[in-house]
Amino acid sequence: MKTDRFETKLALAARRPVKSHGFVNPKLVRGSTVLYSDCAERRAIGKRRLEQEEIYGLYGTETHFALQSMVAEIEGGTHCQIVSSGLAAVTVPLLAYLKAGDHVLMPDSVYGPTRQFCNGTLKRYGIETQYYDPLIEEAALRALMRPETRVLFAESPGSHTFEVQDVPMLARVARAHGAKLFMDNTWGIRTFQPFRHGVDVSIQALTKYVGGHSDIVLGAVTVATDADWEWLRNGALDLGQYASPDDCWLALRGARTLGVRLDQQAANALAIAQWLAGRPEVRRVLHPALPSCPGHEFWKRDFTGACGLFGIVFQSEYDYEAVTAMVDSLRLFGIGASWGGYESLALPTSFTITRSEGTGTFGGEMLRLQIGLEHLDDLIADIDAGLAVLRGQKRIVCASSPCLADEIQDLYREEQAR
Ligand SMILES: *Cc1c(COP(=O)(O)O)cnc(C)c1O
Repeated sequence: MKTDRFETKLALAARRPVKSHGFVNPKLVRGSTVLYSDCAERRAIGKRRLEQEEIYGLYGTETHFALQSMVAEIEGGTHCQIVSSGLAAVTVPLLAYLKAGDHVLMPDSVYGPTRQFCNGTLKRYGIETQYYDPLIEEAALRALMRPETRVLFAESPGSHTFEVQDVPMLARVARAHGAKLFMDNTWGIRTFQPFRHGVDVSIQALTKYVGGHSDIVLGAVTVATDADWEWLRNGALDLGQYASPDDCWLALRGARTLGVRLDQQAANALAIAQWLAGRPEVRRVLHPALPSCPGHEFWKRDFTGACGLFGIVFQSEYDYEAVTAMVDSLRLFGIGASWGGYESLALPTSFTITRSEGTGTFGGEMLRLQIGLEHLDDLIADIDAGLAVLRGQKRIVCASSPCLADEIQDLYREEQAR
């Protein structure tokens, strides 16, 4: 049965036919050596590394292939390469596609380790990265494209600051200049179909919602043409990319419940975001589904929903120390990196944001919330108590001179950084 409905696809993907004898799920296969019946078979199979063929452990087992098919189905592409982490899902296609002398355009709001990779490794290999405002207009973006620009990179919404990008416009510009559009689509799993909007290479940190239980680190790169699959697959194998079949099996298990987990976490998160938007301590809520989020109009046009991750900006009278006092006081929110698991997390983000184009400042301390599967009322009660702690930490502001207050704040930060 052919269906476009996500829930049914998750139940049918990467498994046996519904009516056949045998276990429902694909097997967990560990292995390095594959035995062939004779030398001729070995020679013939060795040439088929672009296919889902058991040739050697590195090329994948039945378990890897099942997860590849599952992720390709979720992302709406044709081929998927499983890699060792979400970060590898960023770096492997860049290394596989680019060469010395090439130019890359990265959004200023890109995931921090991606920025570090571009400024370090790519630079060392003679590949230049230029950052652009994630909300750039078409004409300005066209002006940044050079003959040697081979990758336009998108991440929507942006890491920590949640700017939603105009991906169809990016695709148009990339195509017109013969560049490929790569997109880190981790936030948009399920709700953004990258290939329908002109993306060539879609990146997923499976560590997040597909794993869903905070127990694996894994990534996937999906493409939608045979030509893209060829350079991607060969590049990943050249780089020795591999993931444990145990982790792939856990990701497959996580994927079966991805729909219901996302529904619940997104609903909880939106309710909390709306509640926070009405709080006097909060200056701005950076949730793509709310008009206060930069690029909200693109979310409305291109996404079918949201996930459980969003940010808030506090009023300027609350400093970093006040925010950390609040976060330390929360009882249901862990303090930790990553997201997409079943449990809630809170992370002050102001100090983790690095920008070179002056974007992503919102006039107050910032907090990122990952909303889990706990009961909504308990989560709100916890944040409510946390806000009382925050209010208790309110700093004294000279009302006539907010600039002076900011200066004091800067001095304080420098002190802290020392
Ligand atoms: C977490 C994350 C990654 C990296 O995933 P890891 O599996 O932790 O390496 C990449 N991109 C985005 C947007 C992420 O949130």
